[in-house]
Amino acid sequence: MQLRDKYGRVIDYIRISITDKCSLRCIYCNPTATETPYDREHVLTFEEILRIVQAAAELGVKKMDLTGGEPLMRHALPELVSEIKAINGIEDLSLTTNGLLLQTYAQRLADAGLDRVNVSLDSLVATKYYEITGGGNLTKVLNGIQAARDTGLLPIKLNMVPIRNVNDNEIEQFARLTLFEDYHVRFIELMPTAVTGTEYNEKLVSSSEIRQTLQQIAPLHPVKLRLNGPARYYRFESAPGVIGIISAITCQFCEDCNRMRLTAVGKLKPCLFSDRYIDLRQHLRTGATIEQIKELIRTATALKPESHNITPTDSTVAMSQIGG
Ligand code: SAM
Repeated sequence: MQLRDKYGRVIDYIRISITDKCSLRCIYCNPTATETPYDREHVLTFEEILRIVQAAAELGVKKMDLTGGEPLMRHALPELVSEIKAINGIEDLSLTTNGLLLQTYAQRLADAGLDRVNVSLDSLVATKYYEITGGGNLTKVLNGIQAARDTGLLPIKLNMVPIRNVNDNEIEQFARLTLFEDYHVRFIELMPTAVTGTEYNEKLVSSSEIRQTLQQIAPLHPVKLRLNGPARYYRFESAPGVIGIISAITCQFCEDCNRMRLTAVGKLKPCLFSDRYIDLRQHLRTGATIEQIKELIRTATALKPESHNITPTDSTVAMSQIGG
């Protein structure tokens, strides 16, 4: 069974935001925390999330990621992980986290069956990291990454958003991490959510600039990874790790998009930058059966636009609320 949209793309991946709350205030994401947090009773319960996962898995979705907000701020996350992993058809379950609580939870998550983690890390310089994240502690994140390595939550994907004159001078240092360990270092083009307009144009470091910087270190060899979605992957000769470039803006990745997003309040969004969605919570809370949820997921899939047409002036999304 495969879930296909009307452009023939196979949709086999759902990113599930389990909370809109976050412990950081990243300058490009939610710098002033202007969004009002959702009322608790509006946020999907674990039982509701599991019903959606069950329905999606029956339709052929095999890859899930738990995100937020900061997913490790949600109580009893390891229990959700083990329940999701018990659902037939789920082949790959990951967690996207800022890593601050990872040292505490890595072992419990690994024991619960989590396959791997994606850690957002925008600087390897403690003071810079603190500035970008509005108060984050780099040492805690690095300890969290080490704990994830020790417990076998591999490969570890490190997500870095290069921002001009902020951290773009660290692209090389991040890329060099792949020379020694099997990290997947992924450079994500800045998206115009919190930073918009002319400031956005100044701050954007395009994927082609990123690639040029990388090629000055050593030749890059393209790599094909299983379930890689919209990232383009490369490797330096004989390096254990790989480098991904996610070009959301300057070179649209939409034709390879395999994903949908479930917000913390149960809106199933076929595209991050579209205002189309299906409100699954409303149906779940009025007794929808698994078959009915499957039908709603098919409807959301049919709403997936061929491509996004976001412009730098757009500020239509709050990543912390949708789930980045
Ligand atoms: N708190 C978790 C974390 O820090 O990874 C999960 C949520 S965070 C919104 C998920 C990802 O979205 C992070 O890797 C972050 O860098 C990315 N992100 C948020 N806003 C972005 C933007 N404007 N442009 C590019 N990536 C963004």
